Amino acid sequence: MEKLFAVLGDPIGHSMSPMMHNDLFSYYDIDAHYLPFRIKAENLEDAVKGLKAIGVAGFNVTVPHKSKIIPLLDEIDELALQIGAVNTVVNEDGRLKGYNTDGQGFLTGLQFYVPSITGQKVLIIGAGGAAKAIYFTIAKNNPAKVDIANRTVDKAIKLVEECPFSASSKAISLPDANRDLGLYDLIIQTTMIGMAPKISESPITLINLKKQAMVCDIIYNPLETQLLLEAKQMGARVQNGLDMFVYQGALAFERWTGIFPDVERMKKNVLGQLGGK
Ligand code: NAP
Repeated sequence: MEKLFAVLGDPIGHSMSPMMHNDLFSYYDIDAHYLPFRIKAENLEDAVKGLKAIGVAGFNVTVPHKSKIIPLLDEIDELALQIGAVNTVVNEDGRLKGYNTDGQGFLTGLQFYVPSITGQKVLIIGAGGAAKAIYFTIAKNNPAKVDIANRTVDKAIKLVEECPFSASSKAISLPDANRDLGLYDLIIQTTMIGMAPKISESPITLINLKKQAMVCDIIYNPLETQLLLEAKQMGARVQNGLDMFVYQGALAFERWTGIFPDVERMKKNVLGQLGGK
């Protein structure tokens, strides 16, 4: 019988996950289909019960449900629980178990540019859901330091206080980040500044960027944000959010099927949809 996979979010029309996973199911000859469902927050509990009742094989969870879904699942993986957000659910013999592949997706995609995070001085810009998944995953992997700069510094302080891993970390303001940027080897931009309609904006200035620094922006639409454009012009190595998106999907696909999929194929597909090369 054809297996059902899904993504729950609101809005959901823009999601490229259905196209990406349906292509993989057909490529690996797996009898399965992946559907997007726009679910309002007040209907999330019913949606999860309904999916469980019809025997869903697995699903992704996206904004705004990543945290609210936790009490609705039967079991939560330890890292997902620490992060406080689930983006992947697997039906394990009738029990729904939640995982978070966002942070590991980012780190796996980064490995082609930065083979090991150990000893790196990292600055994360932003303290939202994506920042938290990336921060905890990096903190777990022995960086020399990993600091958080956020518009609302209190939110960054909260993240540092909540981090269950013993990395050297502090919360700073965006003006402090601008001043001290030269201290960091790796800068990771996780806010939505740079996405439409704010495509000409950037959350920080790069005047003090260290030579040979690596600058990542987890936005992938546009493929080159203003921040990445400026970083490239200054001679820095850059990475957009496409790798994170594709690797978080690849890690979810692996959890569902046992197959780690062809990531280059996934990237090509998403780039095709985005009108990139
Ligand atoms: P979120 O939880 O809402 O966090 C938003 C962050 O952006 C907060 O740190 C917020 O700062 C900051 N921010 C918002 N407006 C700002 C402004 N005008 N100036 C400075 N900072 C501002 O969002 P999220 O879920 O983490 O997502 C953030 C971005 O990551 C989105 O662009 C999303 O598309 C992208 N993302 C990409 C992937 C991928 O696979 N590549 C995965 C997940 C998310 P305050 O705390 O001060 O409000």
